[in-house]
Amino acid sequence: MQPTIEPAEAASKQLVIASGNRGKLDEFRALLDAGDVEFIAQGELGVTDVEETGLSFVENALLKARNAARVTGMPALGDDSGLCVDALHGAPGLYSARYAGGHGDAAANIAKLLDALRDVPERDRGARFYCVLVVLRHAEDPQPLIAEGVWEGRILTAARGGGGFGYDPVFLDPELGLSAAELDPALKNRISHRGRALAALRDRIGSMLPK
Ligand code: IMP
Repeated sequence: MQPTIEPAEAASKQLVIASGNRGKLDEFRALLDAGDVEFIAQGELGVTDVEETGLSFVENALLKARNAARVTGMPALGDDSGLCVDALHGAPGLYSARYAGGHGDAAANIAKLLDALRDVPERDRGARFYCVLVVLRHAEDPQPLIAEGVWEGRILTAARGGGGFGYDPVFLDPELGLSAAELDPALKNRISHRGRALAALRDRIGSMLPK
């Protein structure tokens, strides 16, 4: 059980981001820049990661947001994301980060994915990145704000490009003809699952947070 921390003073609208991932925090701040909302990383308030025991992305995002809201007494945003591959019945899905065992070992995850799809022909290599964002006004909020983003693509047979992270080198955007790792970061942020979910959230978040 984590201690309850008193809300920080001042600032019109504050939102705790229930993530310790630096890249994500920067992306959230850049894309959600809603003027009067101040984003605070949960780590700055002493909140540690909660166990992701949900069986769906939205359940895990809710768990993260509720934990941060409960510990801080402030509104909180939780997120969850991953890659779902049609030929693998949605795997690696919730377990995208640790598909090959170790958490966040992208090279091993990619190797395992390419191996699992070794005999799968091009027409059956459909996949999508999925992201869900949940905002809770408080830990018992019965009306969470939920926003989703989906990025449709295909799994390549070999890695391409040096940018991005995770599964980006093997995820092809068919319309652009480029892997996610070949995209300019600003473009990726705009069209990605996370970018789309953040865009869906942006317009609604200001009015739901207490002044
Ligand atoms: P989480 O949302 O931090 O739990 O991330 C889940 C995992 O999904 C990451 O560790 C990556 O393996 C994968 N993932 C999520 N978003 C992306 C992305 O934009 N590119 C590549 N991999 C991603």
